Amino acid sequence: MKIRNPKPRKYGKSTHYCTRCGQYGAVIRSYKLRLCRQCFREVAEKLGFRKYD
Ligand SMILES: [Zn+2]
Repeated sequence: MKIRNPKPRKYGKSTHYCTRCGQYGAVIRSYKLRLCRQCFREVAEKLGFRKYD
């Protein structure tokens, strides 16, 4: 395997990362998105999401 992984972890929070800023951690995968909380807020506003279900 010569694939370079940013972080070779296969478990925990680091398995998911923000597709917008590349940040690991609290990444939201709702709405078929993979964004960290911060990016989700920004993107969600542009997409018209509000804080209700
Ligand atoms: Zn982000």
